[in-house]
Amino acid sequence: MKLSQYYIPTLKEAPKDADIISAKLMTRAGLIRKTASGIYEWLPLGLRVLKKIENIIREELDRAGCNEVWLPVVQPQELWEESGRWTYYGKELLRFKDRKGAGFCLAPTAEEVITKLVSKDVSSYKQLPLCLYQFGTKFRDEIRPRFGVMRAREFYMKDAYSFAADEQSANEWYQRVYDAYVEIFTRFGFKFKAVEADTGAIGGNFSHEFMVLAQTGENEISVCPKCGYSANTEKTEIKAPSAAEQQGLREIEEVSTPNMRTIAELANFLNRPQENFIKMLIYKADDKPVAVLMRGEDELNEIKLRKFLSANEVEKADAELYAKIASSDLGFAGPVGFKQKNPNVKLLADNYIKTIVNGVAGANKLDTHLLNVNFERDFTPDAYGDFKLASKGDACPHCGAKFDFIRGIEVGHTFKLGTKYSAAMNANFLDEKQENKPMIMGCYGIGVSRVLAAAIEQSHDDNGIIWPEAISPFDICLIALDGEGEVKKKSDEVYQRLSELGYSVLYDDRDERPGSKFKDADLVGIPHRLVVGKKLLPEGKLEYKSRYAAKADFWTFAELEEKLKKTAVNISNAR
Ligand code: ATP
Ligand code: MG
Repeated sequence: MKLSQYYIPTLKEAPKDADIISAKLMTRAGLIRKTASGIYEWLPLGLRVLKKIENIIREELDRAGCNEVWLPVVQPQELWEESGRWTYYGKELLRFKDRKGAGFCLAPTAEEVITKLVSKDVSSYKQLPLCLYQFGTKFRDEIRPRFGVMRAREFYMKDAYSFAADEQSANEWYQRVYDAYVEIFTRFGFKFKAVEADTGAIGGNFSHEFMVLAQTGENEISVCPKCGYSANTEKTEIKAPSAAEQQGLREIEEVSTPNMRTIAELANFLNRPQENFIKMLIYKADDKPVAVLMRGEDELNEIKLRKFLSANEVEKADAELYAKIASSDLGFAGPVGFKQKNPNVKLLADNYIKTIVNGVAGANKLDTHLLNVNFERDFTPDAYGDFKLASKGDACPHCGAKFDFIRGIEVGHTFKLGTKYSAAMNANFLDEKQENKPMIMGCYGIGVSRVLAAAIEQSHDDNGIIWPEAISPFDICLIALDGEGEVKKKSDEVYQRLSELGYSVLYDDRDERPGSKFKDADLVGIPHRLVVGKKLLPEGKLEYKSRYAAKADFWTFAELEEKLKKTAVNISNAR
């Protein structure tokens, strides 16, 4: 591709609203432009990378035995009502009406459509197992679109769905797609990790997230250094700590704590460590109030709470509900006497509450706390459980070693769905004994556009992008330092020859200053750069530089093909 004919509008400066390096570089290198919040235009260079990513995914899924389909992005309300998600999906689902008043949504994912499709055409175990996938636009009205295409509202996804007749076959398919994912992310050149994850709005039995390891990742991952258990921190189970020996218990004392609303303020005022505080959080779980006791500095993991209560939704109580239950303002609720006052409100306690002796808790009275509060002696929760968001110091539930924490970008997600959708939508089949059964499903997503941004987060320098070879928009960047004469002639020849050999070449034949050509080449980040210039031409040489290396090499034209083959072993098109 000749740069003189190619649309790559590069920019010297990143726009102000580009908030991470990949968003900055994608805009500066002319891959994307922003249309509206979370909505982007893809320019030729960006689209080329998307297609490269898409092709690798397609190759591996086809190899695994999946079949490609193409599903609608506008989906009817009835289907979403059948699965129950029309109500439960929440505000990320963009709902609208057509001219006849019929309800539709923009697909955030496609379980409903695919389940219905398969239920119509598959009726016998003989037609199973089956795995269908598609590439397509997804729309999620994210509450806070950010990080460029990483958390967009409109984005490009590969979604796959497997249907099986029994558990074993369903698990085999899960493993097969999981293995394909490992192959795909390895081919992309990623440093990544598959971790246990929550099933979120998609639902199902279990799931894994594929995380690209990067400091800028939105996800925190807990990794056990001993047994290897790793999970998204929001899903990480924690080993229950041993309960404290209750010795030296002191009598409860009431203290005045005027206007002390945060644990930090209180800890300071009472001169006690935060882990000595028993804080009470009040939540609404599907409209029912529930109180949860946590250790002062610990954060409640709402996902764990939702699961424990088998609730669809949990949210913090508003000030009014809080005041009603705690008989006080925010910050002064506590467990002593709580059940007597609120016999119908469930009182839960995190396992760490049992590590506190002579703790501090709210007195259910404005500006007042109690000292020397002790579990069992002064309060008995309805249940203890693991409600804590994993953090430093917590131990692995499997082997007891303390967790390490790293950050990652979720690029793929696999779910074992079970029969959640097939049962709701009558996707049944007749088994060998002529019994009617729901199909067992799995679903598998890869955020194609997010993959591209993640690749840049993981591989860039101060000058620009450094593409992994497998997904680079071009194999080689060729720069003619002169727009005319011998240099141009020789460069044209090289371009011609490399193209014949099957390399994709971005050829900078523009009439620009060498400095700006080099800058653009570094910004755009093609892994292999060749330069033809006046200085080396009399010696019959050209310059080769890898985008991964600091130093250039000088090759004769005769050596070019041989050297290139050796240097760029992974150049995709030329293999
Ligand atoms: P997240 O936790 O990041 O919101 P999710 O769990 O909602 O992701 P899935 O429903 O599993 O995501 O979607 C499959 C894949 O689609 C994700 O692994 C991710 O790569 C991609 N993806 C999800 N939401 C977005 C988004 N808003 N913008 C770009 N890609 C996304
Ligand atoms: Mg999401």
